[in-house]
Amino acid sequence: MSFNNQQPVIRALPDHLISQIAAGEVVERPSSVLKELLENAIDAGSTRIRIDLEEGGMRLIRISDNGCGIDQSQLGLALTRHATSKITTLDDLERVATMGFRGEALAAIASVSRLSLVSCTRTAEHAWRISAEGELTPDALPAGTVVEMRDLYFNTPARRKFLKSPPTEHAHCLEAIRRQALAHPEISFTISRDGKESHHWPADDAEVRLRQVLGDAFLKSCRTVDLGNDLLQLRGWAMIPTAILSDREAQHTFVNGRYVRDKVIQHAIREAYRDQLHGSRQPGCCLFLTIDPALVDVNVHPAKTEVRFRDSRAVHQFIYHALKQVLATSTESAPPITLDRVVSNAFPTHTHQQGLGLAEVRSHYVSTQSSPAQHAAAMQAYTPAPHLEQNAPSSEIPPLGYAIGQLHDRYIVAQNAQGMILIDQHAAHERVLYEKLKNVCGLSQPPRQPLLIPVAVTLDDLAVATYHEHHNEFDALGLEISEAGPNTLVVRQVPAGLGRVDAETLIKELLQTLQDSPAQATLLARQERLMGTCACHAAIRGQHSLSLLEMNALLRQMEDTERADQCNHGRPTWILVDMPAIDALFLHGR
Ligand code: ADP
Ligand code: MG
Repeated sequence: MSFNNQQPVIRALPDHLISQIAAGEVVERPSSVLKELLENAIDAGSTRIRIDLEEGGMRLIRISDNGCGIDQSQLGLALTRHATSKITTLDDLERVATMGFRGEALAAIASVSRLSLVSCTRTAEHAWRISAEGELTPDALPAGTVVEMRDLYFNTPARRKFLKSPPTEHAHCLEAIRRQALAHPEISFTISRDGKESHHWPADDAEVRLRQVLGDAFLKSCRTVDLGNDLLQLRGWAMIPTAILSDREAQHTFVNGRYVRDKVIQHAIREAYRDQLHGSRQPGCCLFLTIDPALVDVNVHPAKTEVRFRDSRAVHQFIYHALKQVLATSTESAPPITLDRVVSNAFPTHTHQQGLGLAEVRSHYVSTQSSPAQHAAAMQAYTPAPHLEQNAPSSEIPPLGYAIGQLHDRYIVAQNAQGMILIDQHAAHERVLYEKLKNVCGLSQPPRQPLLIPVAVTLDDLAVATYHEHHNEFDALGLEISEAGPNTLVVRQVPAGLGRVDAETLIKELLQTLQDSPAQATLLARQERLMGTCACHAAIRGQHSLSLLEMNALLRQMEDTERADQCNHGRPTWILVDMPAIDALFLHGR
C-alpha cells in the first residue's frame, strides 16, 4: 500500500511483532494456549498434570507437570521462536512422534500474555525461573515444570474483544483437556477452576478414562472398536445407532494420539452409519487411529488439528469398513437396547418416587448361539404350542424367543430365556427386507418375481424424466420396467422377496424418493434410499394382524439378518424387558 504516491519501503519486522502476528495462528483463545501447554507436558513424559484455570483461562492458565523438566541452559531457548528439542532434520519432520515440533508455541504465548516458566530437571540441584524478559532466578520445585500464563491479550486489546464470557471460555478449556485426557489415560489429570478443584481423573486404562471423561451413559451406548492390520489400526468406541439421541453427539477422533478434526475421517464415520441413521444425526464416538507417521502429514496448520493422509482413500475405506463390521453385529451378539431409557421413559414418576432404580436394571443378553437347524427344530416343537417350558435349557431357545401374541396388531410379544421381548413388526420386517435387498442389489441378475398381470403406470413429465435418468438403478434393484407411451411405464417384475406389492404405488414412491434425493447424492446413497423405500413399502403394516406362525417366522428372519436391532432410521426394532426389570416394576422382593 502506498500513501501520497511515496515509494513503499520494505523493512524487516521487529522480532516481537513477528511473534505477535504468528501468535494469531497458534493462540486463538485460552483453550488453544491450554492445548499447547498440555502437549508440552505430555511430550515431557509427565504422568501427573495439574491444571489451574481462572476466569475461563483468560486471567490464568497454570500447568504443573512432573515431566523431564528443562535444563537451566535451555530455558531461554524454550521461549525463542523456532527453537525445539523435538525435531532436528527434515526426516524427523516426516515422522513426528511428539505432539509439538514447530517450536513456536511458548514464544507465541509469551508475546500475547504474561508468561513465566519454572522448571527443574531430574538431576538439577534446584529449579530455575525464567521471566518473559529472559531473566533467570533460582526457585524451588520438585522435578517438572510449571508454566503460568496470565492476562491473555493484555497487550493486544483488539484480540481481547473477540473472547467470550468466562463460562464459555472455560467450557472450551475443559474440552481441550478432555481431548488430551482421552488420548492419555496413563496420565492423571487434576483440574481446578477459580481456586476450587473440579475434576480429578487418576491414571487408569482407556475404558475407565472414557467413563471418567465422557460418562457412563456414553460408554454404555457404545460398542468397542478394535480392528486393524499391519498398516492401520482403529480402536475405541462407536455408538450403537439406536442410542444416538441427538443430532450432535460428541465425536472425538485421534490420529496417532493427536486430536484431529479431519474431513476424511468424519466422512468415513458418517458413511458407515448412513443407512442406519436418519437425517442429520451424527454418531457419537471416541476413535483412535494408528498409522505409520510417515503416511500422515501433521504439519498442515499451526494449531496441528488438521492432518493430511498420504493415501486418504485407503484411510477412508479402512475406517468405513471397520465401523461397518462393528455395526453389523446381528441379534446373536447384540446387547439389549438401552432398557433403562425405555422402561424409565414409560414409568418416569413411578420409578423416581419409588426409588426403584430401574435405571440400574439393565439386562445382559446371553447369546444362545443356536444353529439354523436347531431353530428349525425348535420352531417345529414350539410354534404349534408357543408356551415355553419354565426350565427349558436356554440353549434351545432362540435369541428372540417365541411369539406369545400380538399387541394391538402392531407389536409382537415374545418370550425368551431372559424375559419378554417386544417387537415393532413393521420396523423389524422393514429391516429384514432392506438387508435382503442390499444383499442382491447390484448383482448382474438380481432375483425378481414376475407380476401375474403387468401393471401400467401413468406418470407426469417430471416423473418420466426421473425414470429415464435413473432406469439403471431400477434394473439393479430387480425391477423390470418397459415404456408403453410417452407417459406410461409398464412394470413386469419386482424384486424377489417383497411379497405382494402394489406395483403402481411402489414405482411412484421410488420416483418420488429419487426426486427428493439431494442432487449431490452418490449412486450408492441413492440405491440405499431406493431400497429403503422398497422395504418400507413392502413391510408388514403397523396395523396388521399376524398368526403365531407368521410372527415366529419374522423372529427367525430377524435372527438371521445383520443389523436387525434397528430399523433403517436408527430406531430400535425390538426391546428386551428382562425378568428382574419386570419384577422390579411390581416391587418384587420388597
Ligand atoms: P515445541 O513443543 O513445538 O517444541 P514449544 O514452544 O511448545 O515448542 O516448546 C519449546 C521447547 O520447550 C520444547 O521443545 C521443549 O523442549 C521445552 N518445553 C516446553 N514445555 C515443556 C515442559 N512442560 N516440560 C519440558 N520441556 C518443555
Ligand atoms: Mg509445544
